[in-house]
Amino acid sequence: KPVIALVGRPNVGKSTVFNRLTKSRDAIVADFAGLTRDRHYGTGKQGRHEYIVIDTGGFEPTAESGIYMEMAKQTRQAVAEADVVIFVVDARAGVSAQDYDIANYLRKLGKPTVLAANKAEGMTDGVKLTEFYELGLGDVHGMSAAHGQGIRDLVDLALEPLNLPEPQEEDEEADSGVIKLAVAGRPNVGKSTLINTWLGEERVVAFDQPGTTRDAISIPFERGGQRFELIDTAGLRRKGKVFEAIEKFSVVKTLQAIESANVVLLLLDATQGVTDQDAHIAGFILDSGRAVVVAINKWDAIDAYQREMVKRSIETRLAFLKFADMHPISAIKRQGLGPVWTSIAAAHRSAMVKMSTPVLTRLLLEAVQFQQPQRSGMYRPKLRYAHQGGMNPPIIVVHGNSLEHVTDAYKRFLEGRFRKEFKLTGTPLRIEMKTSK
Ligand code: GDP
Repeated sequence: KPVIALVGRPNVGKSTVFNRLTKSRDAIVADFAGLTRDRHYGTGKQGRHEYIVIDTGGFEPTAESGIYMEMAKQTRQAVAEADVVIFVVDARAGVSAQDYDIANYLRKLGKPTVLAANKAEGMTDGVKLTEFYELGLGDVHGMSAAHGQGIRDLVDLALEPLNLPEPQEEDEEADSGVIKLAVAGRPNVGKSTLINTWLGEERVVAFDQPGTTRDAISIPFERGGQRFELIDTAGLRRKGKVFEAIEKFSVVKTLQAIESANVVLLLLDATQGVTDQDAHIAGFILDSGRAVVVAINKWDAIDAYQREMVKRSIETRLAFLKFADMHPISAIKRQGLGPVWTSIAAAHRSAMVKMSTPVLTRLLLEAVQFQQPQRSGMYRPKLRYAHQGGMNPPIIVVHGNSLEHVTDAYKRFLEGRFRKEFKLTGTPLRIEMKTSK
């Protein structure tokens, strides 16, 4: 998926722009206990195009020392990895010296750049906007994030230079028979070690030529007759017999890999417990709707007491991944790897499950018979039938009347019934309510 980086000096309204661009999907995901969202990375969708947005925070392209330099470095890395840059300026404040600095930097970078003049609500004369042409970045797009004006056009402008192919229908994707698998985790949890252990096993046949997709390198392999495509998060290259990570950890690559996978293996380090960064990555996975299996690596390196502590920290900090199977493993000692494969297969099957309308409707009506939805004032929701609205994650669309009054508790009750019937594990399940007019 294409990556859009938002840059601009502080106070131009970048985070409001960010919220507008990423709203579309966040809204679907309810807030769960323990879910940590990283407000610098998000995903959004316009039409059939999905994209990733990075908010670079306060961007100081020329910072030369201390923590600011570290931040600037991170920011430059994010911008370098992006496909397109949206440079946000303040239409009311006009051009500032810092805007020139950033513009110079962006011009040297030579990346497609959209110049967005924010806070331009009610500025119909456009006089103020023309001065931004001085930045030498071409057209100025007037917009107002706070008022929701010019957002669609902004996304169109950003995606236009990328010439994206029309995305495939989900059904076409699902039929390929290949499980796209991403191994996600922060640096040093043992991703490369695990991948090399896998690819070195006799039961796994890795194909020599890594296929290249636009977003990431992928390594095809086969195990037990099932074909997989390992989507790389770390810039793995074959070096002799082993694969070596040649790039540093990259949030952008991790996000892209998660987005293009069917199943994500979230790798944790048992010696560290669940860190903030782990929780952020877990949050990305939940937002993506992908199926997920959790493996707690380096289990060999900790004692019984520490193991108990790790289990507890997972229960509290990753409570929102309750639907996922979790396995202690040791990538180095090759322990516990079998059950991980079993869970990956189960998660994939669950994510791709096909649920027919008659069966869904029967289950729905049985559930209603077992427990009626609550009346809300003068309204009693009437659930009539259900159909499948998507896969990976599976979506069940319930049709009826007054469905806006169905409580979250009741949706969870329905979710539980459907999960049980279809033996779903390792995938989120979304229930959407559609009231007939
Ligand atoms: P990556 O950054 O996630 O790819 O992590 P690496 O695969 O480079 O591993 C980081 C460090 O953890 C290395 O020193 C590995 O030897 C070590 N490591 C990886 N897996 C295990 C394991 O199962 N047990 C122990 N004790 N150490 C491990």
